[in-house]
Amino acid sequence: MNYDYLRHHFLDLLVDIVNTDTNVVLLCIILVASIIVLDALSTYAKEKRIAAGVNRSIKERKQILPDLKPLSSRNYVSDMQGLAGNPDGLVSENGFIIPIEVKPLAKKIRDRYVAQLLVYMRLVEEFEGKKPPYGYLILGKKARKVKIYNSEKRQAWLQYYLDQMRDFVDKNEPLKPLPSKSKCQRCNVRHRCNFQMTESASLSPTHRSLKIAQSNEFSDPSDTTH
Ligand code: SF4
Repeated sequence: MNYDYLRHHFLDLLVDIVNTDTNVVLLCIILVASIIVLDALSTYAKEKRIAAGVNRSIKERKQILPDLKPLSSRNYVSDMQGLAGNPDGLVSENGFIIPIEVKPLAKKIRDRYVAQLLVYMRLVEEFEGKKPPYGYLILGKKARKVKIYNSEKRQAWLQYYLDQMRDFVDKNEPLKPLPSKSKCQRCNVRHRCNFQMTESASLSPTHRSLKIAQSNEFSDPSDTTH
């Protein structure tokens, strides 16, 4: 291949580019720009998905749970219990399948996280054939691992709320709201809610006794290990 031959082809190429239809060039620019935008959106969505704890892949779970060896997660649907759930992870420890729930934005343990994990423990017992003695909550950016024991006391606490929810659905019983100042201040529907708690309001005796029962349930330091 000599120099003149290459130069000839290079000049031909330049002429072709100059003569290319402007619309084709514009189309190419739009296509490249679209690919860049889609790629940026996909990366952004993936970051948000990981932060929110939705549908993590095994690779992502391993990044979050470096000292655990996650199994493939499962989507449990129990007609018998009327419960369904998809734990963020499952690990095998001492012959038990242990469910994991990851809350990357959480700063502390909340009742609803514990309730979610207790539901997973019921589902794992039904579908994996053995009652898990505990589950893990992974909290905050530093992935603090908290062991939540599957105690009868906790399951009874969960059952209380499940019964309430089922009563409401089955018998159309009136809702029993449990307002709190901090919750109501941030609630999106507070302007339409007759139960919202304002700065000056205080808990009713019923609400107070329920709150005390809940706080006693979770104040036992021997029942969780960090
Ligand atoms: S404003 Fe009403 S719905 Fe919202 S948290 Fe308070 S009690 Fe619940």
